[in-house]
Amino acid sequence: TSFSPPKSKTQRRYRSVISDVFDGTIVSSVQCLTCDRVSVTLETFQDISLPIPGKEDLAKLHSSSHQTALVKAGSCGEAYAPQGWIAFVMEYIKSWFWGPVVTLQDCLAAFFARDELKGDNMYSCEKCKKLRNGVKFCKVQSLPEILCIHLKRFRHELMFSTKIGTHVSFPLGGLDLQPFLAKDSSAHTTSYDLLSVICHHGTASSGHYIAYCRNDLNNLWYEFDDQSVTEVPESCVQNAEAYVLFYKKSKEDAQKERRRVSSLLSMMEPSLLQFYISRQWLNRFKTFAEPGPITNNDFLCCHGGVPPHKATYIDDLVLMLPQNVWDHLYSRYGGGPAVNHLYACHTCQTEIEKLEKRRKAELDMFVRLNKAFQEEESPIVIYCISMHWFREWEGFVKGKDNDPPGPIDNTKIAINKNGHLTLKQGADSGQISEETWNFLHSIHGGGPVVTVRPNVGHQESEVSQSEEKVEVETRTI
Ligand SMILES: [Zn+2]
Ligand SMILES: [Zn+2]
Repeated sequence: TSFSPPKSKTQRRYRSVISDVFDGTIVSSVQCLTCDRVSVTLETFQDISLPIPGKEDLAKLHSSSHQTALVKAGSCGEAYAPQGWIAFVMEYIKSWFWGPVVTLQDCLAAFFARDELKGDNMYSCEKCKKLRNGVKFCKVQSLPEILCIHLKRFRHELMFSTKIGTHVSFPLGGLDLQPFLAKDSSAHTTSYDLLSVICHHGTASSGHYIAYCRNDLNNLWYEFDDQSVTEVPESCVQNAEAYVLFYKKSKEDAQKERRRVSSLLSMMEPSLLQFYISRQWLNRFKTFAEPGPITNNDFLCCHGGVPPHKATYIDDLVLMLPQNVWDHLYSRYGGGPAVNHLYACHTCQTEIEKLEKRRKAELDMFVRLNKAFQEEESPIVIYCISMHWFREWEGFVKGKDNDPPGPIDNTKIAINKNGHLTLKQGADSGQISEETWNFLHSIHGGGPVVTVRPNVGHQESEVSQSEEKVEVETRTI
């Protein structure tokens, strides 16, 4: 007998403020150098870890950026365009005296540089069905609101760890990610301003962290060192040995948008219709460079009403806008839907009441059947049920879990012995009566049936039992 496990409950995706703020996507491509096939994968990131290039890597990065004729799609030669050849020579000369000058742009260029996959690191091509030489390159598909950059200063090897103390210079404003953007990316704002820096003082084995943060309101910088906070000049931040950098999308355009909306609001234009808008979205509009489409589904159910459990605190979720402001935001950002009337959804309410009834009915019936089972002195057959499933069901009927459990899944507690399913030794299972099993199975489905017969071995099997079941018992002894 073969039994395929039933499908488990569908996994829900949850949105969070962390992903709203830090999520970006990188598209990475690997090209087979034999058949030219390109395989592409899209990856979400919440921070990027950049290598700190050494002297030779720097020379390679800088020279490739000046041989523009040889720059192929996917390389990041453009990263140095505004800096120019003369600036590079100046830095090179400076490096004779103070060691190599590494910029954050160098680290980004190293991260996004083409990687040759050859030798030990060949690439298994799906089309050629063989190991082939390839090239790998990646680009940013969508930019996060706050870009978190981690510099790989610590190298952990088998026996010891080392720290790379190279000074990496970084801009306080105007870090441009344009050179690393995928061609079909829809990003508007590509320029970032520094918000904070985490620094590590000490060695790889011991040390201390401090942070420099800019106050967005007065634009001053502060040093945070445990319990002491001190105002510091910009030059202090500039010279810091950065370990983690937080850059925020430049807000110039966004501030223009916000001024536009507040001037529309101050017009106090009388409007016949009032529009409700998500406060969550408004918060993004107030703080993000790119708030994205309006998300009124934050406070609506799938029927367009307010879900009953949100109705009690709906004022915390929405704000009322006059028509001129809504029209402007809606045409500028899209999304929606437009909401003029708030009402607790009747359909949802009915569904909730139906579910409540169902919970009570299932629980009551189980209690009744189980009581009868307890009173039975010597049950002929005992049905086994996975406790993992049972706990999910219990959570549902007791109202701790919103969703019903999936079908009964006994695959983990069953073992196949000579073609027959019996209870696996030490499995996490519970015992129920045949009636209880039939009841639960009629509602939830699933399987497989796993039974034990407690009296077999002590007394003769009853004649009324089917041939097959008797066979199972004699084989399990
Ligand atoms: Zn190939
Ligand atoms: Zn509804």
